[in-house]
Amino acid sequence: MAFPIPSGTFSDEEDVLAWATDDFGRTTTLPRPLGVVRPDSVDDISTLLRFAGEHDIPVVPRAEGHSTAGQAQAPDGIVLDLRGFNTVHHIAGDRVMVEAGARWSQVLEATLPLGTTPPVLTDYMDLSVGGTLSVGGISGATHRHGLQTDNVVELDAVTPAGAVVTCSPEANPGLFDALRAGRGRQGVITRATLRLVPAHTHARRFRLHYDDLGTFLTDQRTLMTEGRFHHLQGQAKPEPDGTWTHRIDAVAYFTPPTTPEQQRLLAGLVDHRDTLEISDSTYHGFQNRMATDVKLLRTLGLWQGPHPWLNLLLPDHAAEQVLTEALATLTPAGIGQAGVVLIYPVPRSRIHTPQFRLPDTPIAFLFSVLRSTPPHDTPALQTALESNHHLRQQTTAAGGTVYLGDIHA
Ligand SMILES: Cc1cc2nc3c(=O)[nH]c(=O)nc-3n(C[C@H](O)[C@H](O)[C@H](O)COP(=O)(O)OP(=O)(O)OC[C@H]3O[C@@H](n4cnc5c(N)ncnc54)[C@H](O)[C@@H]3O)c2cc1C
Repeated sequence: MAFPIPSGTFSDEEDVLAWATDDFGRTTTLPRPLGVVRPDSVDDISTLLRFAGEHDIPVVPRAEGHSTAGQAQAPDGIVLDLRGFNTVHHIAGDRVMVEAGARWSQVLEATLPLGTTPPVLTDYMDLSVGGTLSVGGISGATHRHGLQTDNVVELDAVTPAGAVVTCSPEANPGLFDALRAGRGRQGVITRATLRLVPAHTHARRFRLHYDDLGTFLTDQRTLMTEGRFHHLQGQAKPEPDGTWTHRIDAVAYFTPPTTPEQQRLLAGLVDHRDTLEISDSTYHGFQNRMATDVKLLRTLGLWQGPHPWLNLLLPDHAAEQVLTEALATLTPAGIGQAGVVLIYPVPRSRIHTPQFRLPDTPIAFLFSVLRSTPPHDTPALQTALESNHHLRQQTTAAGGTVYLGDIHA
């Protein structure tokens, strides 16, 4: 079938279809798309969506493909590759206008020289603006600023019927709410105007260590509620003897000569103070903190292997029990060489994205089991997926929700 696109390109070549049937997760075996369209203009996108709508062909937008369960794939449809739509257009004081295919790293490179930053940046910066606005975009800054989707001023989009529209909380709020965390199925975001805040030049990270899960969660709640730090995350780490230890990564931004007030920031916390680690970096270096690990994982071939990731949001009252049971089933081998387990609190009051599903409690805990399995080890991948299924069931039975879940299930 010929696809009418005024100026972009259509491809159904084998390597292009293989690219469009793959993602960071490498856990799915969905059918291939009919083809991939690389648009040159909003008109291309509008024409394609109108035509596809008339012929009942699904169109799925895609940018960096860092989905882990086929969310950016279009079985028997068209994948709309937005990576070329990546200009950072216009920075004016407290806002920046960017095309949806721009990566957050590009946005920060453009705003930081002007002393501003998006308030919420994902752990990994080479995700696209459109890709994270289509899911939520959660981070260590969420306890202060909400999700990335809560920091959008305006969106330009093309609706599934092909209409070119602009929407915001004031103009067409229904569409604005449908697009944010709309998982690419409510229209194609072409451009976003994002909120900016003043940026500090440096970041001081306090790494606090705990043996006990309950104490770790209590201190996280305290830090979240009091908003002492700019960035708050935590991890669980498996120890060789089969137990788990926990750590809080709490980060205060600063601009010398002023420095963070350690005594006030750490007052009343019950971590193992003798193992406290403190390190400084530039603000940019902190936001780009995954870069070195990613380089190493790429060299080891682990970045390219399967990532059966699971992201859950646990209601506060059930968090400790679900985590205790879940961690008892997880092993270093099961998480994988490059695996990480994240645990950190999210206050409901900061989140204003209707489509982002949270447990019905004032505080939720993000519980992310970010596993990797060796390339081509199908039994290991299968075991990881089964474990994820079990953890998902436990979580939903306890009133929790799933973030970044499988859109094709
Ligand atoms: C290493 C790594 C670190 C991560 N860290 C975080 C984190 O800290 N916080 C967090 O919240 N998430 C995180 N994620 C998850 C990530 O935010 C999502 O998977 C995100 O959707 C990926 O963006 P992408 O550009 O790769 O999008 P893609 O995988 O290309 O697309 C993702 C979804 O967005 C839709 N989409 C893409 N572009 C558009 C558009 N222009 N208009 C409408 N829909 C669109 C697609 O259809 C699809 O449903 C991480 C993922 C990885 C792999």
